[in-house]
Amino acid sequence: MAEHAVNYVIIVGPQGAGKGTQAAAVAPRLGLEHVATGDLFRAILKSESELGDEVRHYYDQGALVPDDLTIRVLFAHIEQLQEEKRGTTGVLLDGFPRNAAQAKSLDDALAERGEAISAVVLVDVPRPELMKRLTGRLVCSNCGATYHREFNPPKSAETCDQCGGELFQRSDDTPEAVEKRLEIYYEQTEPILEHYREQGVLLEIDGNREIDSVTADILDSLKDRVSA
Ligand code: ADP
Ligand code: AMP
Repeated sequence: MAEHAVNYVIIVGPQGAGKGTQAAAVAPRLGLEHVATGDLFRAILKSESELGDEVRHYYDQGALVPDDLTIRVLFAHIEQLQEEKRGTTGVLLDGFPRNAAQAKSLDDALAERGEAISAVVLVDVPRPELMKRLTGRLVCSNCGATYHREFNPPKSAETCDQCGGELFQRSDDTPEAVEKRLEIYYEQTEPILEHYREQGVLLEIDGNREIDSVTADILDSLKDRVSA
């Protein structure tokens, strides 16, 4: 990661708004590393370790993993990236922060390094659309690419267009877990947006449109915010 100017961009929105889809499209074009806490946890789940068992307990029900564990996993990953990926201009955080305590820990960690958040992109979609998006979601078990059975179908029903990996339905994309995750979003995540609005870094994007139109809007809104 560049030593001089590290961009910290956050993509936020309710589950199913298209954060992962959009982050995969915009991060490479902005030179940002896409860091999704959900992906970090899915990698831990795959490892079949004691830590995996602990994470699964929360993950499958759609509950938040405890803050101290989430923060530890995320910052260890960012530190590792900083050592390895010196060519990128920063990180695009997806799925973090999810509550006030996580937002504070991020503010504190950045302040300690003399850094600040460049932008927070809110991708918003009306709640009735979200259940349809999540219960039809398919994810590649190899590269993490995201599809939808109806809205963004892969060329073949079971394999990833990009890498040929097997597609699966996430264990937390059941109607019960989706309801719980959305409750948590509106109760705990949405209120922290005010903090970013006050700081003048919140960019609001209508996510209820074609995937490519949303991508174009996000890139346009970030063009003066992310330094090369
Ligand atoms: P999030 O990361 O916010 O939970 P995803 O990017 O995984 O959301 O998208 C959720 C589901 O909705 C996926 O199946 C994805 O293919 C689909 N999707 C994403 N963006 C759109 C869009 N603009 N219109 C219709 N479906 C979409
Ligand atoms: P996501 O892929 O962002 O939908 O996250 C999937 C699941 O991972 C969540 O329902 C939580 O169980 C866990 N998770 C992801 N990010 C966080 C976070 N910032 N804090 C706590 N748990 C998280």
